[in-house]
Amino acid sequence: MDERGLDVGELFGRAAGWAAGYRGELGERRVGARKSFGEMCADFGGALPREGRAAGEVVGELVSLAEGGLVASAGPRYFGFVVGGALPAATAAEILVAGWDQNAWNSVLSPTSAAAEQVAGEWLKELLGLPAGVSAGFTTGAQAANTVGLAAARHQVLGEVGWDVERDGLSGAPRVRILAGDERHATTDRSLRLLGFGSASLELVKTRENGVIDLADLRDRLVGHQGPLIVCLQAGNVNTGGSDSLGEACRVVHEYGGWVHVDGAFGLWAAVSPLLREQVDGLELADSWGCDGHKWLNLPYDSGFVFCAHPDAHAGALAYSASYLVTSGEREPGEYAMESSRRARGIAVWARLRELGRDGVVDVVERCCSLARSFARQLEALGCEIGNEVVLNQVLVSFGSDEETDRMIAAIQAEGTCWMGGTTWRGRRYMRISVSNYLTTEEDITRSVAAIRSLRQT
Ligand SMILES: *Cc1c(COP(=O)(O)O)cnc(C)c1O
Repeated sequence: MDERGLDVGELFGRAAGWAAGYRGELGERRVGARKSFGEMCADFGGALPREGRAAGEVVGELVSLAEGGLVASAGPRYFGFVVGGALPAATAAEILVAGWDQNAWNSVLSPTSAAAEQVAGEWLKELLGLPAGVSAGFTTGAQAANTVGLAAARHQVLGEVGWDVERDGLSGAPRVRILAGDERHATTDRSLRLLGFGSASLELVKTRENGVIDLADLRDRLVGHQGPLIVCLQAGNVNTGGSDSLGEACRVVHEYGGWVHVDGAFGLWAAVSPLLREQVDGLELADSWGCDGHKWLNLPYDSGFVFCAHPDAHAGALAYSASYLVTSGEREPGEYAMESSRRARGIAVWARLRELGRDGVVDVVERCCSLARSFARQLEALGCEIGNEVVLNQVLVSFGSDEETDRMIAAIQAEGTCWMGGTTWRGRRYMRISVSNYLTTEEDITRSVAAIRSLRQT
């Protein structure tokens, strides 16, 4: 009991119990939400209450209000976007993190949080096969990670021509040439905007099948280049799962003194599997990497990682100081990510890697890929067309015309056995499947295909 007579233990226990009950029925729940955004706003809404309410009542009210608008995206038959479901130890760790309420900004505020990040960062680098001296930052997601990686790039390439971008900004700075494939993730442009480059500064490199960059076009564009240069590559295209030829592209860009950033939000995890590693061959040659924890590593939101082969540029782009700041002289987590005060993100990462070990990480990645291939085979057998070469965990499915594909996507979402979204790829509509969850089994694929088959016939 606290001083107001509130039984915190009972309250936290009840909240954890509800969360566990939800997770227990995920596999059988309708996948899509039952209530719309508007209905949920009405349920949550009303005037700002003047008076408070007992904590236990608030939590009970929240549980009953939230229910209708929850999406079983953590469950085994959610195949929309690229999301994953958080593994048990990582989820339990996240509950503890909320209870401990640590501020992970630096090692003075929380040695536990800083150390969990330190160790988890080393483990992640080892898993991905990144060089030992690489720095690691824990971000809210891949977009934040990419933005930090590109800030480090900006620091370095302008520093090399004598321009201090942190002090003098970009007005009047030497021009930085920035290249990316025309099938880059849409958030690359936003990262560049936030860094003051402007999306129009992006020069697009042609892509080939599966959206991977055309190396010949990259080479041609760079002939004779001099001056600051950043090239954004991709591991794992969101539609096809295809990865750029990282090693070869890095060699080309480095001939011109450029910086290579790899957006590997989910595709970077191909690196952990001996069967898939070839797809990201040479990734260790890049200068910085952005990656997600909350997609294919199946960690709770918000979790992403930025790695940088030039730790001085990484910290140089982000570190700051003020007279009241106390630091320990150790690695300070806040110098490698954009926020100061923040949740102790590294703890769930540590727990997740401890729970599964290297073998478990490899198993989830390989199993998802094999299930994606099975999905493609079974849907082809139903007469669907597969729009990509299924090299990873992403499958593009056409039901014939664009209209029929859109009709099927809507029907599948409404039916509720599984959930897939739509996309436009090379001018044609597709249903996009992403298999990214450790819970998904062959039976989930069979059940989903059966649901799709029944909708086709009606
Ligand atoms: C998801 C994704 C992003 C953005 O990542 P967030 O974690 O949502 O910030 C960037 N690039 C690629 C390739 C992605 O799949």
